[in-house]
Amino acid sequence: MNIYKLYRLPKGTTLTGVVEHPHSVEYCVSYDHSRICPDCAGTNCVVKGHKLTHATHLPLNEIGTFLTFTRNRYLCKDCRSTFFDRPDWLHPDLNITMPLYHKTVLQLTDKKSQISVAADCNISPKMVSKVIADIVLDHPRTLPEALGMDEFTGDIGEWNAEQKSWKKKTQYLTTICDLTNIHNGVIDKDGRNSWVIDVLEERSIDFLKKHFTTHYSLEQRKAVKYFCCDMHGGFISLAKQIFPCAHICFDMFHIVQRLNRAINLTRLRIQRSYVVYTDGRRSFVPGKEDDYDFLQKSSRTLIMNEVERPVTTERRKVRLQRCFALSSDLQEVYDAVQEFHALKVDPGPIDIRPSLLSDWIQNHKNSDVPELRDVVNSIQNWRPYIQNTWKYLCSNSSCEGLNREIKDVKRLACGYHTFAPFRKRILLTCGPMKQSYKPYSIRQERGKFVPTATTKNHIGADSIEAEQE
Ligand SMILES: [Zn+2]
Repeated sequence: MNIYKLYRLPKGTTLTGVVEHPHSVEYCVSYDHSRICPDCAGTNCVVKGHKLTHATHLPLNEIGTFLTFTRNRYLCKDCRSTFFDRPDWLHPDLNITMPLYHKTVLQLTDKKSQISVAADCNISPKMVSKVIADIVLDHPRTLPEALGMDEFTGDIGEWNAEQKSWKKKTQYLTTICDLTNIHNGVIDKDGRNSWVIDVLEERSIDFLKKHFTTHYSLEQRKAVKYFCCDMHGGFISLAKQIFPCAHICFDMFHIVQRLNRAINLTRLRIQRSYVVYTDGRRSFVPGKEDDYDFLQKSSRTLIMNEVERPVTTERRKVRLQRCFALSSDLQEVYDAVQEFHALKVDPGPIDIRPSLLSDWIQNHKNSDVPELRDVVNSIQNWRPYIQNTWKYLCSNSSCEGLNREIKDVKRLACGYHTFAPFRKRILLTCGPMKQSYKPYSIRQERGKFVPTATTKNHIGADSIEAEQE
């Protein structure tokens, strides 16, 4: 067995000794020093001194290891600058070897906290933060054919200079997802068919419009053929303006959610009519306290889908009858929603015959119940977008799923102070990079990265594309 492979020593090193410490192993190595000046690329350099360097390396059987080596200090005779030689396998800024750096980045693509990543890589949590700070994740250079957009609340901290502490600031962030594989019906080896390609700091329409128009040309934006979003009105007007060729798609999930909300709002309106306020004190209309409690407790029964789960128990039936006896409005909304559930065509769970939907809208759009009237009018307005979902098999339900994963990331980290590391962590965890996705090829792919002049390791769109192939 090759000892270099066993110890996983970087290529180009020669092992000169192994020292065992109580809690770590030290490898003494030497390597071929390069004499190329980083400033002028000249080779006319002379040695002006040296220093002993320690760099943390990959753990061996759960025991931490580090490399010890001598680096030379050179003087360039051409430009009179001095520099230390830097082997390829040593991180330019952090005191760790590149194999350990790549391992840490790969560990960060898993859903685990930074502390457990630090424990697995045998480095300090602070070093994990430094690795995250070192990663550069640009905005994607091209836009996908099917683009999903959704918002979520990110609790980003705000530094209070006076009190010298972080203050929690809740802010809406926007996720942009690639849903092309859903549209094409492709699932990758991980069983995933969608991923987050970008996270933006705000969700205001002006911000999003500026972002897309400054980062992408009209030609690039025309490449977006399907735009999936929820019913946040701004997203639709945004899509019409900046993605001129996109078909806008909604998921049925949002419609059902709105219908359920109409029931809830009707119920709350009736409940509120049982309450009176005198001098700021809340009291019930005489004899209505029980009814108030009863309606409150019936909230779940009222939003049940009778078509999928028929009401069989006598208790439920009695409960519904009592609700309807209290208010005819409630019965009207309930019946309309059940009628809507019944429109769904078998076996397609989200498909509805357009003519049936037209009839349903016609029947209910002039209803006397304001909540029902509102939701029916909304459905009428959104109808083309809902039908696009069935036509092009594109929906933003996956965006909602990815949002759930983002919440996991947020919770694992117990929140983030600033947006930049949060965004990077989301892109690593919910993005196209995955440790379980051809791990060895990713590791080799990562190993090819050459630090650029800014001494940052660039994991941009190119590497993401390379991994997807
Ligand atoms: Zn020089």
